[in-house]
Amino acid sequence: MRYYDKLIFELSHPGRTGYSLPASRQYPFFAEKCSSGAAADSAGFATVLPNNLLRGTALDLPEVSEVDVARHYTNLSQMNFGVDTGFYPLGSCTMKYNPKINEEIANHPLFTGLHPLQPAETVKGAQEVIDGLDKALAAITGMKHFTFLPCAGAHGELTGLMLMREYHMARGDAARTKVIVPDSAHGTNPASAAVCGLEIVEVKSGADGLVDVESLKPLLGPDIAGIMMTNPNTLGLFERQIGEIAKLVHECGGLLYYDGANMNPLLGKVRPGDMGFDIMHLNLHKTFSTPHGGGGPGSGPVGVGERVLPYLDVPRTSGFHGNFGVMLRAYAYILMLGKQNVKMAGPLAVLGANYIKESLKDCYKLPIPTVCKHEFVFDGLIDDGAREGKAGATTLDVAKRLLDYGFHAPTIYFPLLFHQAIMIEPTETESLETLDEFIAVMRKIAAEAAEDPDILHGAPHNTPIGRPDETAAARNPILKA
Ligand SMILES: *Cc1c(COP(=O)(O)O)cnc(C)c1O
Repeated sequence: MRYYDKLIFELSHPGRTGYSLPASRQYPFFAEKCSSGAAADSAGFATVLPNNLLRGTALDLPEVSEVDVARHYTNLSQMNFGVDTGFYPLGSCTMKYNPKINEEIANHPLFTGLHPLQPAETVKGAQEVIDGLDKALAAITGMKHFTFLPCAGAHGELTGLMLMREYHMARGDAARTKVIVPDSAHGTNPASAAVCGLEIVEVKSGADGLVDVESLKPLLGPDIAGIMMTNPNTLGLFERQIGEIAKLVHECGGLLYYDGANMNPLLGKVRPGDMGFDIMHLNLHKTFSTPHGGGGPGSGPVGVGERVLPYLDVPRTSGFHGNFGVMLRAYAYILMLGKQNVKMAGPLAVLGANYIKESLKDCYKLPIPTVCKHEFVFDGLIDDGAREGKAGATTLDVAKRLLDYGFHAPTIYFPLLFHQAIMIEPTETESLETLDEFIAVMRKIAAEAAEDPDILHGAPHNTPIGRPDETAAARNPILKA
């Protein structure tokens, strides 16, 4: 362990400081009065806290010099992995590079200085940003209007499903209590439906990874509120039968909900509205330029088509106008790309994913060997190195070994359709050189596994922390030293 990788408390030396302050007139007074619990001082600066609220011992703060603090935190920041440090091919998450100009715009004092309780006529510029973004998103998706109330994708799903329920209730159609969700769906889909009080009916995927229309037909009836779909689905495959599915669902009286968290592959190519979807959400923090991960601010605007438009709430922004900074980034991003270049995002995301898939399919099992959209799924190694008495390398081992080579791991063991799922999404912002480097490393790892899977079993070898016992870490977390 390097010196600066220690905890800040371990770097502490009594008496060492990183600051110098002029002597305070108040300080000696407080020190003295606090210990006695006496009343306010003669200058009337403050009322002293009652004794039962006072510390019995001195505050245990680390005593370190400024340079130690600077190095400690800078080194800590470098132990983390982010899109700004390396390639982050996390499937179903669109961890792409986001232009820094959008950060600057979102941080502009004219925006950050706005107060949420300002009279509406003094924030017309901000309103114009929201209206402009609404128009742009409507044009991109084929929806009529968006609400910016939801602050995340899952929040958008819940909002959208509540709109779906409202649509049926307003027509006196109270029997529609079930929503159909494909088995390949993102986990938030069934979770949101359950939170909305809807019963989930699963529809199976066929061998081609697409929703099986014949399996769907018998599920449709007067109790179906609608279907939730992702297209391209979580396997990165375009649901080619979407026209037929939309027709069937509408005929039975249901609505179609579109999970547009990762819209990259469709940008400028296909619009959910034209596919027959009635309600959808977008993740501005995936598709439209806001760094995400680690639970940062998000925005999951919900768009609706003609059928549902009357039920869209007014006003369409949540308290304090939702996560306005995320909307600003998205709007700046769309305006900067312009109509022509927005159309390049989809093809580039699709090209990158297919390039990686084709370059690795002789080392990794490709369960569905068709053209994919922005992401695809492998089902583990072709040769995992398993020999008599020796366990082969798993998907987890491959993911951990990638960390040794400076890449973030892809999404693993999701979707649940394959036991050794590795889900890769390069996104539209990576160069050919980065993709080639990733491919070379994935091939090297496959060769290592075939040669001696133990190299992978022990990985990662080069990271500050090796391989924690994930079960114990979850059951018995140690959150402080
Ligand atoms: C990320 C994601 C979601 C959920 O979005 P959050 O903002 O994390 O709530 C939903 N569906 C899909 C397909 C996603 O990739």
